Amino acid sequence: MSARILDGAALAKQVKLELRDRIAAFTAAQGRPPGLGIVLAGDDPSSEIYVRNKLKSAGESGLRADLHRLPGSASLADVLAVVAALNASPDHDGILVQSPLPPGLGKTAEQVVFDAVDPAKDVDGFHPDNVGRLVQKRPRLVACTPVGVMELLDRSGVAVDGAHAVVIGRSDIVGKPVALLLMHRNATVTVCHSRTRGLAELCASADILVAAVGRAAFVTPEFVKPGATVIDVGINRVADAATVERLYPADSPRRGQFARNGSIVVGDVHPAVWEVAGAMTPVPGGVGPLTIAFLLSNTLKAAEARCSGSR
Ligand code: NAP
Repeated sequence: MSARILDGAALAKQVKLELRDRIAAFTAAQGRPPGLGIVLAGDDPSSEIYVRNKLKSAGESGLRADLHRLPGSASLADVLAVVAALNASPDHDGILVQSPLPPGLGKTAEQVVFDAVDPAKDVDGFHPDNVGRLVQKRPRLVACTPVGVMELLDRSGVAVDGAHAVVIGRSDIVGKPVALLLMHRNATVTVCHSRTRGLAELCASADILVAAVGRAAFVTPEFVKPGATVIDVGINRVADAATVERLYPADSPRRGQFARNGSIVVGDVHPAVWEVAGAMTPVPGGVGPLTIAFLLSNTLKAAEARCSGSR
């Protein structure tokens, strides 16, 4: 492995440590901790894990976080009623509706629910008010994963100003906001997606390559300029032995993990890219932990803004 490791897990720990004093100061001043309400509808196994981790991290940092659980049979009106109650709650500064919502609610349900969250409590940064503010470069609450990516670049000393950044993926959650944040920091940004022609060549011109595709090991060495910084946002569970054997040599610890657990989490970037990139995030331990750290940060930010009356 030749690329420098961009250690998101270590940075997440540091960010949470930095938040702890501010959370304690808020709690002392307001007589209550910043509050986060998490809405979970249905029983998607990955969502269960994500929500458990968010609750645990929030508790460890001194936030109050509570879970509002709805059955998979819940109607859209049921979900909206919980969101309305959290909007009105004086003890909740942040609201997070765990995605995906049960498929029975229909394709547009998620946006309807995100639109219903009070923008001042929208710690996921998905409300159109917050998205619009980001586009206009006067952000308030910005999606957690893209904020984590930018913080990791900054604190790792990666130069963004004037760099060519290529983002693979144009989702509302990752691709678009990270592209906007990079552009606002004076990167020249190319956004790629499933209809992009000549993807590998475009990516190979990037100084900073952000992969948010959702396909295991999709980004192979020919996508990467030697020495480039590669940010792997992907979280893909691989449960097939042939794929694990293709990606990792026999002595790789990943093989052992797979043998023990029956599956492993793999990023969007092929492990062979470690030999080409100059710096790169691992999966796991890269962008994932930062997403949670910046959820806590956004909750505190929302709480401070609400209590200072600047909402
Ligand atoms: P998404 O909504 O499914 O978007 C995927 C994007 O990749 C789309 O824009 C899609 O293009 C593009 N794409 C798909 N196949 C492609 C191909 N063959 N060539 C080029 N582009 C292609 O996914 P997402 O929510 O952005 O998430 C992306 C990945 O990040 C997933 O693995 C997800 O689990 C992970 N994630 C991680 C975190 C974290 O905390 N680390 C947070 C969020 C997401 P089209 O628009 O044309 O369909």
